[in-house]
Amino acid sequence: MSPLNPYDTVPHHTTPVVFQWTHAVSEGRELHEATGVCPECGCVMTKRYTTGQYAQTKGGFLGRRKGPGPRPFSTLCQCTSLHTDRPEDVQVGCGARITIASWLDGASQ
Ligand SMILES: [Zn+2]
Ligand SMILES: [Zn+2]
Repeated sequence: MSPLNPYDTVPHHTTPVVFQWTHAVSEGRELHEATGVCPECGCVMTKRYTTGQYAQTKGGFLGRRKGPGPRPFSTLCQCTSLHTDRPEDVQVGCGARITIASWLDGASQ
């Protein structure tokens, strides 16, 4: 048993990390999932983005927004490992705020 790491929300990872993106349409909602390894705790995590509001517009999500754009995504770690001393209202993650490269930035096939 390794000791619990302190829960720390200081944003320390601003260099985009490359995650594997998957794209699906579920019940008319665009669903994008980014799966990769948190650079802070080393766990595999998945961050899910739902963009249903754009799927209904004429031209669709991609036509309207041209995808997420080259802007990287900022997210808190979403790992589910019980290795951190999380606050009571936090269910997942190690607390690290990380930056995920957009799938337009070479992150997907
Ligand atoms: Zn983490
Ligand atoms: Zn973790």
